[in-house]
Formats: sequence, C-alpha cells, structure tokens
Amino acid sequence: MLDGIIEEILIKEEELEERIAQLGEKITNYYNQDDEIVMVCILRGGVMFMADLARQIKLPVILDFMDVTSYEGGTTTTGNVRIIKDLEESIGDKHVLIVEDIIDTGLTLKHVINMLKTRNPKSIKVCTLLDKPERRTEKHVEIDWNGFEIPNKFVVGYGLDYEEMYRNVPFIFVPKPEVYEG
Ligand code: 5GP
Ligand code: MG
Ligand code: MG
Repeated sequence: MLDGIIEEILIKEEELEERIAQLGEKITNYYNQDDEIVMVCILRGGVMFMADLARQIKLPVILDFMDVTSYEGGTTTTGNVRIIKDLEESIGDKHVLIVEDIIDTGLTLKHVINMLKTRNPKSIKVCTLLDKPERRTEKHVEIDWNGFEIPNKFVVGYGLDYEEMYRNVPFIFVPKPEVYEG
C-alpha cells in the first residue's frame, strides 16, 4: 500500500505512543478529579489521536466530535472554515479539551474556539499532536499541550490524510512530492 509513496518517516509508531502517554499524564495532572471534561475531537484527522490520548487520561471524560473543514482537498488552506457536524453534548459550565491532529495556520482552531466560547464552557484547552509554527497566521491562538513541533512539510498518517487516504497508517510520514504533485 505504501510502496513508492514515502519520502521520509517523520514520527515512528513508538515515538507517538511514548509522547501521547506523556501528554496524557500532563493532562491528567492538570485537571481536578471531579472536573467535568468534554474532549472535543476535530474530525476526521483527530480520531487516532483522540482514541489513544483518551486512554492515557486517567479522569472521567466525555468524548464528542465536531467536523469542520478549511481544506477542500489538496494541500493548502483556502481560509474557509465550515461546520459539517456539531457537538452532541452541551458544554455549558464544563471543561472543554479540544483535540486536534495538527495546527497549521491556526485558522480552524481560532474559529472552533470562538464558536465554542459562545456556549459558556468553564474552560477551553487545546491539545494538538502536531504543530507547524512556521505556517501560523493566527498569532493569538494558544496551544496548551503539543505532541511534536514539525517543520513546514505536508505530513500524512495517524489520522492525517492525503485526499482521504492513508489515515490508517500508524506513523507520520512525508509523502513523495510526486504523490500530490500528480
Ligand atoms: P489550519 O486551519 O491550522 O491551517 O489547519 C487545519 C487542518 O488542515 C488541520 O487540522 C488538518 O486537518 C489540515 N492540515 C494542516 N496541515 C496538514 C498537513 O501537513 N497534512 C495533512 N494531511 N493535513 C493538514
Ligand atoms: Mg484537524
Ligand atoms: Mg485533510
């Protein structure tokens, strides 16, 4: 399935596992035992991370999902953020933990935070697996926990897709340019 597609493996399966265990511990220690926490996974890229991170957080949490998009396929942002699926839970007076695959420009996160704030949660925190700081246009979005800072490269695997493919690859890789340059 991956023959001739991988340029470089950026983060191995074991590295993901180890780092996510650390993040889970930090997050567990940050909240109080009796806090009501709603983990909000941003679909679809965040699913693998959500599933693994949630199991490393030793607190009672509710798992919910929201689908927004700023990408209409391809590898660069259009700046349009659209809600495709809203949360099922009401988050009023609860602690919200947004779980993202990657923060790139920060536009998606900015829009999600602004929207969730209007519902009056007790707090909003952000945990992202990957951060590409070089690409940030939204300087004011704050990330509370980050798995890995990565260079400005298009990455795929562990939830992240190229045209909806390769989300099930258990590590993060940079595809060969010819994969997305046709
Ligand atoms: P942002 O709004 O911060 O620019 O990025 C929004 C979304 O674009 C991310 O949550 C992710 O789904 C997608 N994205 C950004 N960079 C990459 C990348 O390198 N690879 C993939 N597959 N998706 C990306
Ligand atoms: Mg995402
Ligand atoms: Mg995508």
